[in-house]
Amino acid sequence: MPDGVIPATSPHHAASLPQPRTDWTRDEVAALIALPFPELMFQAQSVHRARFDPTEIQISTLLSIKTGGCPEDCAYCPQSAMHEDGGVKASRLMAVEAVLKEARAARDAGAARFCMGAAWRSPKEHDLDTVCAMIEGVKGLGLETCVTLGMLDDRQAGRLRDAGLDYYNHNLDTSPEHYGAIISTRTYQDRLDTLAHVRDAGINVCCGGIVGMGEDDSDRAGLIASLASLPKHPESVPINLLVRVAGTPLAQAEPVDPIDFVRIIAAARITMPASRVRLAAGREDMTDEAQTLCFLAGANSIFYGEKLLTTPNPEASRDARLLARLGMHTSLSQH
Ligand code: SF4
Repeated sequence: MPDGVIPATSPHHAASLPQPRTDWTRDEVAALIALPFPELMFQAQSVHRARFDPTEIQISTLLSIKTGGCPEDCAYCPQSAMHEDGGVKASRLMAVEAVLKEARAARDAGAARFCMGAAWRSPKEHDLDTVCAMIEGVKGLGLETCVTLGMLDDRQAGRLRDAGLDYYNHNLDTSPEHYGAIISTRTYQDRLDTLAHVRDAGINVCCGGIVGMGEDDSDRAGLIASLASLPKHPESVPINLLVRVAGTPLAQAEPVDPIDFVRIIAAARITMPASRVRLAAGREDMTDEAQTLCFLAGANSIFYGEKLLTTPNPEASRDARLLARLGMHTSLSQH
């Protein structure tokens, strides 16, 4: 290797790095986001390289196991029954065998984790029986499992843990201050309570938010500060770019400047250095160049496959081509 070239991989000493801080304030995060772009990227890359191979991207596949007809009123979501024109027809919970067929295909396409989402306020007892059977079956295929089922109490979290669940996804969505403009049917505290039940059960946490819902810079900093000051950082942090779905209240939201979006990814990377930062919904609307900047800013996980719940996701082949152009590769590694 020529003099002065830094090796691509140096995460071997990750175990000796300090515990990530969990006392980030909104002002600190806002100051990070506002840094000159080269400074912000340098910090993000330095943090990223200390714990991860910067050429490696983790792949998760997401399947909607119960679509539409949701009683919640999340303003961005076409699955809400309150957004009549959202265009998503309500379906029943899928059968276990049908889910396992999809999981096998995802595994064969290179996914390390199989995420299953159900449009519920919270799971009913008999539905939880079925989901537990799905978790056991997907784990039996050698995949990590993640589910997102809405609010959970401590007993439900315990049942999912006993079924072998690896991750539970429950997003904070936005800052506490902007939250009321987006959802009225459950509170920020409800979300924090579910996250606490998941943590207490010993399940890994997948928790992030959405950029582009009419929030201001302070709200974006507030979202990242809220995530980074949870008692323990989520192991996975999905950062979504709003997909403006016709028929939802946010269909006409202002588009996000891609550079501003990259700044949020970088802030997530710096404040939550040991977490997987996932470039989640909205990649369909991003250029390859914008996605590349997100990877350089520390995003090291993507969803792969044709659908991201009910919104379009870039073709898997487009992802493969981009990673090949960048000399990057997918991993089957943990979180
Ligand atoms: S985001 Fe989830 S909880 Fe909210 S309306 Fe959509 S499916 Fe329901």
